[in-house]
Parts: sequence; structure tokens; C-alpha cells
Amino acid sequence: MKQNRRQFIYKSFAGLTAMVISPHVFSYSLFQKNKSYDSKPWIELSEAAYLYNVSQISKMAKGKPIIAVLKNNAYGLGDVQVARILNNSSSIAGIAIVKDERAIAMRNEGVSKPILLMGDFDSVIANALVEKEITLSIFSKDSLKKINTLAKETNKAIKVALYIDTGLGRMGIPYKETIRIAEEIKKNDKLSITQTFSTLTTPKDFAKEQIQRFESITNELNEKGISTGIKHLAPSYSLLDLPQSHQEAVRPGILLHGSFPSVKMEEAKQFPLKVTYRLKAPVIRLEKLKAGDTIGFSRFYKINKDEWIATLPLGWADGYDSGAENGAMVLLNGKLYRVVNVNASHTNISLGAKTKIKVGDIATLIGPERPEITPEGFGKLVKGHNYLQINYKESIPKKTYETF
Ligand SMILES: *Cc1c(COP(=O)(O)O)cnc(C)c1O
Repeated sequence: MKQNRRQFIYKSFAGLTAMVISPHVFSYSLFQKNKSYDSKPWIELSEAAYLYNVSQISKMAKGKPIIAVLKNNAYGLGDVQVARILNNSSSIAGIAIVKDERAIAMRNEGVSKPILLMGDFDSVIANALVEKEITLSIFSKDSLKKINTLAKETNKAIKVALYIDTGLGRMGIPYKETIRIAEEIKKNDKLSITQTFSTLTTPKDFAKEQIQRFESITNELNEKGISTGIKHLAPSYSLLDLPQSHQEAVRPGILLHGSFPSVKMEEAKQFPLKVTYRLKAPVIRLEKLKAGDTIGFSRFYKINKDEWIATLPLGWADGYDSGAENGAMVLLNGKLYRVVNVNASHTNISLGAKTKIKVGDIATLIGPERPEITPEGFGKLVKGHNYLQINYKESIPKKTYETF
């Protein structure tokens, strides 16, 4: 029977209802189902899993508010999309990012939580940042000058964060110069310090020393009548490793996405997290390669016995970790298959001597379905650290679901 287009759209949508699509992706999903997405990878995000992880992080931090670090495009998972999910959580006190234009993108998509810019900004975008009430970090003498000038030009109140370098050595005002710069900030009545923060290193002894440096500075500021606003120090690792780092808010990134910052964290058992995303891609080519054939530029994978090889349309240039060819698995029609080759734009999967897989079948490269394909499971199989597998390119489309 011939279907008209409307019936087809309805049917293809009905097939997806198990995944309960939230309204803002409704039309987007139809588009994906009918048009281009059968030839490209995509990422699915679970609102429920993110909110579950937030509640677990909240327990880890004994109820302290959470500033969600969504830098690097939320580690490749979509900063605006994740921010929209987190915007509804009362445990989330704010969002922190590093790139100026992402703050604007979030505001344009309705993200209303306080947004902290932990990096620098371009002058062309400065007015918009003030307009949209983005908290600007003062991380050096020069950045204070820049923000003083901005306050003069706009004649508007600007929220600022005092970013202190207590020993990471990468960003922030060197801790010994902080008091002097804070006194300078106080002289400008357009500027108000709403947050004071620093970042801890992982070695515990030094992290403790950093905390002491931080606390002695913030105490001195308070004695001088300079308000510090909300104080925060702890990325995921310190959050778990060093409770005294919690201060007035914690500042995790990777935990939100369901991974622990280190493969061997005992705390993982106490606070299990949910996998928040799936990375999926269709099979675009299927060929039976013969014994003696090889795959890849370096002829990396050698075929010993004739076998079916599937090609997926993504590779390391899309942010899929090339280490996957050292043992990662993907799920295809309910079964796990081994990744045997990762190039810039293509990945190959070994399907064995016989297969029922067809071109167009969808592979799940990362997802909650099996331990081998969770972000943590992937990390173990490829012996990489947990930050590696999540650097997906912005060009990979994201779909948000209420739950998986
Ligand atoms: C990246 C980053 C974080 C979050 O780090 P995770 O290890 O992902 O929790 C926190 N604070 C700062 C300043 C960062 O750059």
C-alpha cells in the first residue's frame, strides 16, 4: 500500500515513542528520521540520567550547590543541550564555561542560571556578555584593566569572579597578588564580586596547601570588608577525594556525564552514576573481505579468515577515540562486535564469517546497554583515561530525550 507523506511521518514517529521525546526535539527527530541521519553519526542525551547524576553529585557534596562545568562543548556532548537540561535543576547553582561565545549561545537558548566565564573574552562580544549578565572572571592584572574599561564604556553593573591561582599555575591571579587586585576591584563600584574560585591539583598534600592558601586569602578579604561571593574550588576529583574542598559550592564537569575522573575511584561504588548519552552511527558499507586482505592506511588490521566488515561513518576527526581499534566494542542489533580500525572519518567493525547485519542498521558505540560500551567500559577496553572518549565534534547532531 502506498503511503502518503503524513502517514509515513506519523509511523516513523510512533516507532520512536518508547524513547519519549521532549517537545523541543519533536520536529528535529522527524527530520532526522526521514532525511539525512541515516548516513551520519549522532548523539542522544538523556535528561533523566543527567538529573540523576546531579542528585548523586549533590549527595557526594552533602547538599552543597553545584556549579556545572560545561567547557569544551560539555566535553563534546553539547554544552547548550546539557545546559538546557541542567537549567531545570534546583541543585544547580550555575554553569561555568571557558569560551565567551558559548555563554551567549546558552542565553539565546533560554538558559537562565548564572553563567561564569572562566576564560577571557573578545571585545566585540563584551557588550553582549554584560547585557546577558554573564559573570566575568578577573584572572590577571590585564583582565581587570579590560573589565574596568568595559564597565566605563557600558556604564553598567558587572558581576565578576575573582579567579585565584593557588598552585595549578595555569590560570588565575597568583595568590600572593590577589589581595592587592581585589582592593583595586573594590575601587570600581560598577564591579561586584559574586564568586571567588580557584582550582585544585590532584596530589592530596598539595591540594590541602592550596585550600589553606585560598582560605587565608578569602578570610583576609572578608576582614577588609571585601565580599568574596560564593567560594568554590573542587573539580570532580577533589569533590570525591577531599571533602574539605567543597567550600560553598562544588564545580564538577565529568561526573555530570556519568564518568569518574579516574578509572580507579573507590567512591564510584558508593555513588553510582548513569550513562547520560549514546553515540550512534549507521552501517554505511558491508563487504566480505578475504583472508590476506588488510584494513587501514598502515594495513593495521589483517584478515586471517574471510569475514564481514562493516563501515561506520565516523572516526577520530569526529572525536571518536582512535584507541578504539585496540579493543573497543560496539552494539549492533543486540550483539557486541569488535572495532578493528579507526581512521579520520571511518571506523570498521568485524562481524565474523556470517552476518545478518544490513546496511542502514544502527550501531551504538557508546551507551548504557552493556558494560563494554559505557564510557567507563570503553575507557577500560582501550586503556585510556575517562576524559578521552568524550571529545566529540560539535558537528555531530544532538537529540535530547526525557529518558532512554
Ligand atoms: C575542567 C574544570 C573543572 C571540571 O573538571 P572535571 O575534572 O571535569 O570535574 C572545574 N574547574 C575548572 C577551573 C576546570 O577547568
